[in-house]
Amino acid sequence: MPRKAPPSGTRPGIDVLLHENRVFRPDAAFRRRAHVRDVSVYARARGNPEAFWASCAREVAWFRPWKKVLAWNPPHARWFVGGRLNASFNCLDRHLGTAARNRAAILWEGEPGDERTLTYAQLHRETCRFANVLKELGVGRGDRVTLYMPLIPELAIAMLACARIGAVHSVVFGGFSSEALKERINDAKATVLVTADGGFRRGSEVPLKKFSDEALLGAPSVRHVVVVRRGNFPVQMQEGRDRFWHDLMKDRSAECPPEPMNSEDMLYILYTSGTTGKPKGIVHATGGYMVGVHTTTRWVFDLKPEDVYWCTADIGWVTGHSYVVYGPLSNGATVLMYEGAPDWPDRGRFWQICEKYGVTIFYTAPTAIRAFMRWGGDWPGRYDLSSLRLLGTVGEPINPEAWMWYRKKIGGGRCPIVDTWWQTETGMILITPLPGITPTRPGSATRAFPGVEAEVLDERGRVVKEGGGYLAIRRPWPAMLQTIYGDPDRYVKQYWSKWDAGTYFPGDGARRDRRGDFWLLGRVDDVLNVAGHRIGTMEVESALVDHPAVAEAAVVGKAHDLKGQALAAFVTLKEGIQSDGDLVSQLKGHVVRRIGALARPDDIVFTAELPKTRSGKIMRRLLKDIAEGRALGDTTTLADPAVLQVLKQKYEED
Ligand code: ATP
Ligand code: MG
Repeated sequence: MPRKAPPSGTRPGIDVLLHENRVFRPDAAFRRRAHVRDVSVYARARGNPEAFWASCAREVAWFRPWKKVLAWNPPHARWFVGGRLNASFNCLDRHLGTAARNRAAILWEGEPGDERTLTYAQLHRETCRFANVLKELGVGRGDRVTLYMPLIPELAIAMLACARIGAVHSVVFGGFSSEALKERINDAKATVLVTADGGFRRGSEVPLKKFSDEALLGAPSVRHVVVVRRGNFPVQMQEGRDRFWHDLMKDRSAECPPEPMNSEDMLYILYTSGTTGKPKGIVHATGGYMVGVHTTTRWVFDLKPEDVYWCTADIGWVTGHSYVVYGPLSNGATVLMYEGAPDWPDRGRFWQICEKYGVTIFYTAPTAIRAFMRWGGDWPGRYDLSSLRLLGTVGEPINPEAWMWYRKKIGGGRCPIVDTWWQTETGMILITPLPGITPTRPGSATRAFPGVEAEVLDERGRVVKEGGGYLAIRRPWPAMLQTIYGDPDRYVKQYWSKWDAGTYFPGDGARRDRRGDFWLLGRVDDVLNVAGHRIGTMEVESALVDHPAVAEAAVVGKAHDLKGQALAAFVTLKEGIQSDGDLVSQLKGHVVRRIGALARPDDIVFTAELPKTRSGKIMRRLLKDIAEGRALGDTTTLADPAVLQVLKQKYEED
């Protein structure tokens, strides 16, 4: 693995310590059958990005063609101006006259093992019926509907039904508390809440209706609540406000004409994961978003009609919006959905599902891969995973060792891996390999998607051709956010003010290598500052994960009189490995050998769990609070507060 290399100089960017030289070229047989086989697509798109996006837009169904591809008044972009379309029409109606009509759109499995299949024709009918229900509840164009549900088909149906009538959905992940739900309802001023009697998580009930009732005590905008019966959990129904989904759906017409929406009309609001602070209500428009997710889904996952495509993300996150619902369905694909936890009833559940349904494309998060690594290769080893042909990751930088493990143990050494960088704000994948043509390296998201212009810049906005700095996107892209809901000033300040008004600042550190490939280094807010060197968290963490005893690591800087910052590492070991003082010095030595003395952690704390957001991302800012002995910052998006209390105690003892 990584060769030691000197820091790349003292330019005010980010120094690079880790170098990775393993390379995996696309397999010739894969390439022959891939949607994208020809590297000239990059040059073609670069030569005329707007013409490129227009050619992508022609793959989407429009009721009225656009007049102008892009109206760019930095930092405000309007895509496919004058065009009219409907997102639910694109995901449903357009397939009804084709071979996809009776193809499974959704293969669903509940945590207890119950199954449902919805063909495109069935999904269309259910969507129309629920769209008619919403209309009867007084929902119309532009009205906001909050969806707080388990991962069941009704969630996708409710989203598509909103899109059908021009209403704006705001999905709140079903793992959030009533407080978080209340805030999000109030921010969006939703008039309808769709929820369920409850959901399943590791065999126990998540009382969604009870949480909804608590939230609604402080959310006066909601007039109607629709409750899906998921598990026959007991619920209180409030007369005049609450109705059951199945009662409302009874005798509803299965026809509902799709509302012709302007390309720029709002499709949805979605709150970011809250890794760096208070979540932001990101607004996505219809036309550009559909073009962006339709194209990236087809090209990045090489999605075909015969695939069984499984993105394990919950629909409550943007990955679920773009790559469980809108992208795959607009492509007429078969989407697998699994409601529950990966370790229920045992740690083989995901692999059992892959074998059972013959999953061909599997897309998950590094946090999940590191958990699989911790649990050991025996679990996937018990199942037949030979149907898999492509793997993907998203959500955090992937440590090279986790990438290699994924490739070997899940992909059987034969599946290309697409490491896809993007955000709630970007709506679509922006940096990624194209599996038929892009050579991959463990830990690199490789290059910008065709038509996307990404660069690494230094503090002053100068281009870093090779080395570390800040990731920047230099021209608008179709699925880009429109604004932050209710806070247009913050939209400008947060994303378009670091350099010039036409350059997007995602808030991530990145490095470019001499081939021009991108390596994500972690969040700019988390950058370590040691003895005059700025280092991304990713590199030190990857050096730790490279040690055979380690499954996961988070590194933060804490104030130090001499060095500026000293490093504190929080480490989770693989199952069955004992932590002791000896291992502490071994790990410190390992980091020094891999990347240099500069990155030697001062403290190493072993922990069974790291603090993560509910979407599974490590929250380093809270670890930093612990390391510096400060009061904890915003913890509302934290998955399990107990983890933090244990760590705090442990850190103070050590
Ligand atoms: P908040 O913005 O509220 O702090 P968040 O950034 O975690 O939350 P998301 O939009 O869910 O919310 O996450 C996007 C971020 O996830 C990116 O900015 C990046 O830091 C990280 N990320 C996503 N995919 C990758 C990837 N392939 N490689 C590296 N980092 C990634
Ligand atoms: Mg973010």
